[in-house]
Amino acid sequence: MHNPFENAMTQLEKAAQINKNLGAEFIAEMRVPDRDIRISIPVRMDNGALKIFEGYRVQYNNTLGPYKGGIRYHSETDINEVKALAFWMTLKCSVAGLPMGGGKGGITVEPRNLSKGELERLSRGWAQKLADVLGPQKDVPAPDVNTTPEIMTWMNDEFMKITGEKTGASFTGKPVDKGGSEGRDSATGLGGYYVFETLREKLRLPEKCNVAIQGFGNVGSHAAEIFVQNGHTVIAISDSKGGIYDADGLDITKLSEHKKTTGSLANFPKSENISNEKLLELECDVLIPAAFENQITEANAENVKARVVLELANGPTTPEADEILFKKDIPVVPDILANSGGVTVSYFEWDQNLKGEHWSEAEVFEKLKGHLENASEKILAKSLEYNTSLRMGAFLVALERIKENMHA
Ligand code: GLU
Repeated sequence: MHNPFENAMTQLEKAAQINKNLGAEFIAEMRVPDRDIRISIPVRMDNGALKIFEGYRVQYNNTLGPYKGGIRYHSETDINEVKALAFWMTLKCSVAGLPMGGGKGGITVEPRNLSKGELERLSRGWAQKLADVLGPQKDVPAPDVNTTPEIMTWMNDEFMKITGEKTGASFTGKPVDKGGSEGRDSATGLGGYYVFETLREKLRLPEKCNVAIQGFGNVGSHAAEIFVQNGHTVIAISDSKGGIYDADGLDITKLSEHKKTTGSLANFPKSENISNEKLLELECDVLIPAAFENQITEANAENVKARVVLELANGPTTPEADEILFKKDIPVVPDILANSGGVTVSYFEWDQNLKGEHWSEAEVFEKLKGHLENASEKILAKSLEYNTSLRMGAFLVALERIKENMHA
């Protein structure tokens, strides 16, 4: 099993070797989080029993601003995963040019097994236990895997009740009518598309691409819609149960309806059922992992036939797989750039809440586009300067900015 935090540290070590000026002391500081908090959350279940859940918040680094990052609800979430995700958030906010540090939270839970009431009590419990260390100028959580705008509302409400905070800027990813930003919902997928469009020609991709997407959650489904709207063909999609393939292209609206009615993607008319493993090995222009860590590993990287990998999940490619793809000349557009659209619009939400403003969707998207074009150009230039991968280009851009501001 790959430990995501060890993978993250391998990436950091590699960046340190590429730019020795980063220095051993700075790298040593980047290897450890500022704080790593574990909490116990007792929840009264619907059957009257008391169940205690394990929760986390890792505040990795706040050199650039308040800690920022989502909260993940998953049965396999543990401290190592949250620590890795918090580290990547630190670099992601730096890459995207945001005045935010990096953090991440989570609860070890399978949310599908909870009733709505249990989910609300659990979510309020998380905010209660961590209220001391959260807030607009301290740490601003947001959604991640299996956490929704509604969950953010419960947490924000609980936090405001405890602390008296009034701006609502303590959590982002709230529903639009509860202080959320226009465009936050689709921001990660759309941001990924802007990054792809900025780099497309330089990556020698055709104007119209065939795309395969692993994951049909918030990120994967929005990305699929956006790529199709822009004239690309989505030939395969999967979720945790398996995938489907149609060389002529999938109709995403119909596919969403099909999943809603049947509970899975399988047996979608005209398409072929395929496994998640097979999806990763399809011949296509762009492969988009939009699910979990450790999907492209030393075991399957050799079989990847995509021309480019666009990482909308966090940490989907292991360092060993990175080496293999680099040798095969398959560029990987790294997570900390490709999926930074989500946190960028989260930052816009925080900013709007603090200023008491509400921006239009068009304004949000225009600003998002500007941020991501800029970040993409910088990272490409850095990777060319050091003759290295886009991931290392992104690490160098991010680390250099943090180092310049550290202890300033
Ligand atoms: N969970 C998202 C991520 O991994 C978004 C974090 C945020 O909006 O703060 O980037």
